[in-house]
Parts: sequence; structure tokens; C-alpha cells
Amino acid sequence: MTQPRSKKSPEEIETAVSQLKSTRPAYKALLDFYGNVFIAQATSTPEIEPIPIAGDLLSARRQEGLPLIDKTEFRIDLAAARRLFDALCDAAVLPEGGLSVDAGPLKKVVADGDIDPENLFRAVLNDDEAAFADAARKTGLESAVIEFFAYNSIKPSLTVCRDHLSPHLDATGDWDKGYCPVCGGLPVLSALSIDAGARRLFCAVCWHDWSAPRMRCPYCDHAEPKHHPYLHTTEEPEYRVDLCENCRSYMKTVDLRQLPRPFHPPLEALATLHLDMTAREKGYRSGMSPDIDP
Ligand SMILES: [Zn+2]
Ligand SMILES: [Zn+2]
Repeated sequence: MTQPRSKKSPEEIETAVSQLKSTRPAYKALLDFYGNVFIAQATSTPEIEPIPIAGDLLSARRQEGLPLIDKTEFRIDLAAARRLFDALCDAAVLPEGGLSVDAGPLKKVVADGDIDPENLFRAVLNDDEAAFADAARKTGLESAVIEFFAYNSIKPSLTVCRDHLSPHLDATGDWDKGYCPVCGGLPVLSALSIDAGARRLFCAVCWHDWSAPRMRCPYCDHAEPKHHPYLHTTEEPEYRVDLCENCRSYMKTVDLRQLPRPFHPPLEALATLHLDMTAREKGYRSGMSPDIDP
């Protein structure tokens, strides 16, 4: 299949957001905000030197089933991330108060020098929860909100690094792991291709996508088809929720054969919170939870 990873232009994102808004009015405020986030990201152009990987290290990592880099090795264009951080904080103060987060306090502590945004950017890659907790105390915002702004500020840098790194994968054959071959991140979304319905998984960190078997759980590797039912409704034929009865995790899946708008994976992941709720109500948990035992 053609890889759906191909970058979406701001216009395509705009189209996808407005189509979603017309079919799901309940998401309007959320989509207004995320639309601004994604368009700001699509117009950010970080400049980053490629991360060097020695040839012998590349084949050794491949043989051991390790990703090309650890996510702590991602490089960040700090100036570009800082500009995006300010833009995202501004976007969160919607005139209609649509989003229930006012990121003004976050922008202020950074502007006053009480928090170095580079520490927050690094905290995303180092899983440094203490840094987010500290910023939460200083701003009155939740840690998860701070992490959201920090991650989305560096995301264009991560995808530039990913695009530098991913050509290394082509020479090394198939990847059959449940984590990202570029950075080791877990998949947050999957998609069924337009042509044959083949499955691809999308990394929650760098959004690289890779092919995966339809009937195998990426979180616990369980592959017995009868243990993999899925949820589906005729009202939203473009979505399904794949379930694993072995580890009780779920994965949201977009069927591209049914999707009536440009496919921007992060948008579909965020515009499907109702599917997360449905799966949780049925006793399943996100495969992104840290307590899944393989
Ligand atoms: Zn990744
Ligand atoms: Zn599983």
C-alpha cells in the first residue's frame, strides 16, 4: 500500500477537521483547538542535523530486535519548538472558551523564566514526570496538560528526525515487533489500507507507521484469531476498536477504505475519544497503559 504517513498539508488538515466537525458537532470545541495545533505543527519547519548511526550498530540493533534509536536520542530544534510552544499556548485560549484549558499561566512561567521550556521538552523524551509535576505546581494546570503542550511543541522535530532515520529501515527487511522500529514507541492507532485492508500501526511518539498482522495484538503478541473480536458501528463505518482478550487491551483502528476525508492519524486518534470510553466501559484498557504484561 501507499504509506499513509505522507505528510498532510495545512489545507488537507483543515478539510479533515471541518468534515469531522460537520459530522460530530459534540467535538466542535475540541476540533477547533486540535485543528489549530495540527496546522501550527504542519507549518513548523525545524532544522535538524540527522542523527548519525554507524552501520555495524544498525545491523546489531536489527538482529536484537531493537529500534534504530532510543527516544531520548531524538534531536530538537529548540527555537522552532519554542515558537510552536508559544503558538500552542495562544491557541488554547479560545475566545469562546471552547477548550476548558487556559494555557496562559504556562506561557507566563516560561516568559518569566520560572521554567525553562527545554526542560519540559526533554522531560517528554526522558519520561520525567517530576518535571511536569513541578510545572503543574507552578501553573495550577494538570501535569498531563503540560506534557501535551511540551510534546506537541517538539513533535515536528521528532518527525523530521524520523524522516532522516526511516530510510535505514528499508534495507533491513520486515519488522514484526509491537513497538516502533524507529524509536521504540508503542502504537497508539492502527489503519487498514485502502487497497487490501492490510494493517499498519502508528507510533505514539514519532508517528512512524509499520505493517503488522491483522490478528496479532501489538501489546502482548497474542495471535489467536478467536481472541481478537472488534467493536464496530454502522454510524461510523470508518472506525473499529480491536480488542485483545488475552491482555484486555484495545486498539483504535481507522479503515481507510471507509474514510471520507484526508487521513491525518493524530487527528483521528484525538477525535475518537468516544471509542476509548466505549472500550473502557467494556472492561478493556488502552494498550498504551504501562501496566500491560506481555
Ligand atoms: Zn516511533
Ligand atoms: Zn494483547
